[in-house]
Amino acid sequence: MRTALIQLKRSLEEKKSISERANRLAYFDPLTGMANRETYNTVGASILSNNPHAVLYLIDLDNFKRVNDQHGHSVGDELLIEVAVRIAKQAELHEGLVARLGGDEFAVIIPEFQDGISKEQFGQDLIENLRLELMADGIALTAHASLGVAQLDYLDEKSLGGLTKAADTALYKSKSDGRNSLSVFDAAMALNEWRTREIASSIPRALSNGEFEVFFQPQVDLASGNLCGLEALVRWRKDGKLLGPDQFIKIAEDHGLIADIDLWVLRTATKTVSKWNEYIDDDLSVSVNLSAKHFDSLDIIEHVGNALEASELRPELLTLELTETGLLEDFNMARQLLSGFKTLGVETSLDDFGTGYSSLAYLRNLEVTELKIDRSFMRELDTRNASHCIMEGMANIAHSLGLRVVVEGVETLEQLNKIKRIGVQVGQGYLLGKPADEATTFARIMDELCEVRSAV
Ligand code: C2E
Ligand code: CA
Ligand code: CA
Repeated sequence: MRTALIQLKRSLEEKKSISERANRLAYFDPLTGMANRETYNTVGASILSNNPHAVLYLIDLDNFKRVNDQHGHSVGDELLIEVAVRIAKQAELHEGLVARLGGDEFAVIIPEFQDGISKEQFGQDLIENLRLELMADGIALTAHASLGVAQLDYLDEKSLGGLTKAADTALYKSKSDGRNSLSVFDAAMALNEWRTREIASSIPRALSNGEFEVFFQPQVDLASGNLCGLEALVRWRKDGKLLGPDQFIKIAEDHGLIADIDLWVLRTATKTVSKWNEYIDDDLSVSVNLSAKHFDSLDIIEHVGNALEASELRPELLTLELTETGLLEDFNMARQLLSGFKTLGVETSLDDFGTGYSSLAYLRNLEVTELKIDRSFMRELDTRNASHCIMEGMANIAHSLGLRVVVEGVETLEQLNKIKRIGVQVGQGYLLGKPADEATTFARIMDELCEVRSAV
């Protein structure tokens, strides 16, 4: 009887400890012992309901992925634990809730600051505390963090979801400001976020309502001085204003809408230029920009094929402009895409060349047919001798690889003469013609044709 009682007691104790462990696992992050996301959601919401001035800090380690990849997960875990200890220690003084939301992302909610400390000061202290050195495999590692901060008082949407979103927007700003810094969500960010949402949600309707337009900028053959091609540049006629790509392309990319815009530009531009060529009996080429966001699938090859078929433009008259940073993100995919484009017979251009890694070595391995030197080199051509030498070097190497060289941003006669001397084949820039709408471009083409014909 006594043994049975002892056994029963033991089994009850075991069950209790299992259920305690299960409870811990359900509410806390096993690695750091901090609250997990579920606890953050429930406890966080209850803190906010009683503390109208609560402040949320979202913390993201800047180089955690590299630590994990280079030194293995156990070193990564060690770093996370050290970070968690430091965050918890600092938050404890203000009775804050600390949580690990995922990988290397942490959160601190401070219900109300004690001792008149400001939220900025607390954030700066966090940044200082999280700038740490760790020894792993005998190598000293440095780590630091970026912070996004939001305070409940300043938000329209006074919920944990709203606060988290606001702090996340601020965190994104810290990351793009170069990391290791802190940003506080403010009215300007709120307005920006609202504008971004408004732009993103209007794009699908704008596409079906025909609010987008293709502008064309002339490309000039520098040997003859004749128009040889046009770059298609998208514009959005929105609420009576003409928006340039800098106001919506990035947003479209971030919201998965860029493919629709690019394909619309591709179809429209190929149709328009094909129609003009037929009318003037000429071979103008057209260059279309493709965002790097297309490069995660090979579908774009089929779309380009369809656009050529629908427009009846000869494939060699279409150039697809791709940025080097986009192509480098996934080199393998880039090669497959470029080889698909080559099979279609279209030309490909490495756009904005010189702004990214600019490795001339990989030019050999990428089957592009044109190099488009970024306009920042043009701007510096007058003032910096080094830019002149670099441009000449780039042009020479490109030529020796059999690539056509285009220079964009030609604004002065002096610049034009310099690039001619370097041996650049094609120029584009305000001096040679600004981007213009379809009707103006067609009138320009007709004018030029008359001039050439009367000269003959
Ligand atoms: P980009 O491909 O480098 O296009 C050239 C940009 O330089 C155009 O700006 C053009 O107006 C401007 N530009 C041309 N000549 C000069 C000059 O002499 N001086 C100066 N300062 N600027 C000059 P835009 O039209 O505002 O386009 C900006 C960027 O937006 C483009 O840069 C391209 O990256 C992107 N973009 C434009 N259309 C599309 C599109 O249909 N799809 C995608 N994905 N991106 C596009
Ligand atoms: Ca371009
Ligand atoms: Ca460019």
